Amino acid sequence: MAKKKSSKSKSRGTKKPSSSQGIAAVTAYVADQPPATAPPKIRQCGAMAAHFRLLEADPGFRSRQLNLENAVARRMLTGMVALKGGPTTIPVVVHVVFRTAAENISDAQIKSQIAALNKDYRATNPDKSKVPAVWKGLVTDVNVQFALATKDPKGKATSGITRTLTTRTSFGSNDSVKSAATGGVNAWPTNKYLNIWVCTLGGGLLGYAQFPGGPAATDGVVILNTAFGTTGTATVPFNLGRSATHEIGHWLNLRHIWGDTEHCEGTDFVADTPNAQQPNFGKPTFPHVTCKNGPNGDMFVNYMDYVDDAAMVMFTAGQVARMSATLAGPRSTIGN
Ligand SMILES: [Zn+2]
Repeated sequence: MAKKKSSKSKSRGTKKPSSSQGIAAVTAYVADQPPATAPPKIRQCGAMAAHFRLLEADPGFRSRQLNLENAVARRMLTGMVALKGGPTTIPVVVHVVFRTAAENISDAQIKSQIAALNKDYRATNPDKSKVPAVWKGLVTDVNVQFALATKDPKGKATSGITRTLTTRTSFGSNDSVKSAATGGVNAWPTNKYLNIWVCTLGGGLLGYAQFPGGPAATDGVVILNTAFGTTGTATVPFNLGRSATHEIGHWLNLRHIWGDTEHCEGTDFVADTPNAQQPNFGKPTFPHVTCKNGPNGDMFVNYMDYVDDAAMVMFTAGQVARMSATLAGPRSTIGN
């Protein structure tokens, strides 16, 4: 079985880059970058870069994260995870920020993304048949569904979609898309809505998310417009809506499955995902053994790896427990 990794979390703090190294390490991601000349070929997510930037910028964030982490761990130990009968429905607002007509994606493309999320987060995605037999028993329904908001913050009827014309050719993972003052659009109240900004991102990023416990004004996820939904401008190999599935996983406090280090010491704080050395890309072949995790190897079919959309098809029971604890705790004001 998977090696329990929680004991290793203690070493994380000491191995984290010092403040100055941390800043240097993420500077490349922080600046707004020119749009790519071609759609990304491999997955790259800016969630950890944004996370380290916030840890540097917001003195209270680190302690809030630690408190949340302890609360989530307690809930998981005592079984106090959300055990509602029906699924939790999360109201979503999609903010389309565009300069060109192509960037102003259609309602149909947006709705195709919501439909994809509702398959992935209920484990009704037909391609879960790709999960190797050894992990089939771990495929788990998150019991969460998503719906475009029908009421805006003032209680008026809405499509759950906003459209904002910008002069910006692209955005980075520095949250500029989340503010009207920097060419984007402000969030709807983040304690009531999941805000998803859809725009052109530079630096080869497919998206990024803010973990629970961060600043309210920037809470939510950002997705590259050509990696959003399953129709319209959605482009192979990121045209199955899995960039949003992955980023919303971060928003619900999931970490990357390899633990965001490259020396087998990192952890994703989940016990039933195998320890893995690095992200997997493309469409790997089973098994891919690293970190002495044979014979089954890395769980590259997991939504929190870096593989192509067509290769990521599952969350585990441990990940779902962590997301449920997050919904019952730090994100309890969202959904019903
Ligand atoms: Zn990620």
